[in-house]
Amino acid sequence: MTRKLYYIDPYQMEFESKVIKRDQDEHGFFLVLEETAFYPSGGGQPHDKGMLNGVKVIDVEEADGEVRHYIEESLPAETEIVRGIVDQKRRFDHMQQHNGQHIISAVFHDQFGIPTTSFHLGKETSTIDLDTEQLSADVMKAAEERVNEIILGNSPVETKWMSVEEAEKYPLRKSLAVDGKVRLVIIPHIDYNGCGGTHPRTTGEVRAVKFLGWTRSKKQVRLEFICGTRVLQKLEEKHEILTNMKKIIPRPEPQLVQEVEELVQAGKAKDKQIAELEEQLIHYEAQEIISASQGDKVIHRVFKDRSMQSLQTLGKSMVTEIEDSYIILISEQDEQLQFVLAHGEEIERNMNEVAKQVLPLIEGKGGGRPHFVQGGGRKVIDGEAFAEQVKSLL
Ligand SMILES: [Zn+2]
Repeated sequence: MTRKLYYIDPYQMEFESKVIKRDQDEHGFFLVLEETAFYPSGGGQPHDKGMLNGVKVIDVEEADGEVRHYIEESLPAETEIVRGIVDQKRRFDHMQQHNGQHIISAVFHDQFGIPTTSFHLGKETSTIDLDTEQLSADVMKAAEERVNEIILGNSPVETKWMSVEEAEKYPLRKSLAVDGKVRLVIIPHIDYNGCGGTHPRTTGEVRAVKFLGWTRSKKQVRLEFICGTRVLQKLEEKHEILTNMKKIIPRPEPQLVQEVEELVQAGKAKDKQIAELEEQLIHYEAQEIISASQGDKVIHRVFKDRSMQSLQTLGKSMVTEIEDSYIILISEQDEQLQFVLAHGEEIERNMNEVAKQVLPLIEGKGGGRPHFVQGGGRKVIDGEAFAEQVKSLL
């Protein structure tokens, strides 16, 4: 069995050890050591990373009773002793998130009667699932305040190995699902927890907790939070966003939300006005095209980069003004061709049949009502050539 240095001193980041096994499985090469400071994935806490003799340790997992160090490339066959260096920043971050979670769960349980059902320590934020259907803003605020008070209180965080019988004398929230020896993590008067993770010496090292919000998950509440250095990183991120925002909208921070809201509303009002003006303009355009066509039986126009919506509006405006003419409207885009085919009310022809015959020319799709169809496809031929093909069918 490997001696687990992370249980003896969770701050020990460097060590030397004999290699007792070297092997390979579906995850890659791995080493088993006589002793290790590398924490393997477990109890919701991700594994450590670091180096063994200068080779990257990419994963650490406990399997078949051994701690397997997966390394990026195998070490020379004659290697007997390795020097290990654990990525201190990553580990300490995990210790902060993990211990923060103990305190958060304790506060929700003891002060609000809400038990925690699971914990996930994520790359950027962490979550716990709370056995309740909702969380009021008042409860969130009160819980967050209490958690931060406990952190500031700088209580010791102790770990003790003991028998299950002995452990059950403590005010545990969850019964222990193990036999034999158990590791109890104790924050006196606050939390007594059977846990195999790594923890800092005092709650003060968690530094701070910030709740980021919650969502509903399987009739429970999933609370998102960050602890420790992540709180400062988040503040820095948000500060940068606001600083950049203030370059665009030069207002004091408390006024920014209202200012953005007003800008969005003004934008929507303008969009509406532009749409109305566009429709009016298209109506005049329709009249102009019709009067210029001087009673032609087929009126066709090819446009560049005109939207389908605009093409349809123009077509609809024209059909009300003509009685026995056909309309072919085409928009040429970089790689696409879109069209509207229509006719006045005195013509009986179903334009779906015409569309069906020309659509293969542009490998397209389309359809509509008998007197008004639209479609589009690839610009395999240009707009004028497509119009000629349609004309030849009318
Ligand atoms: Zn723990």
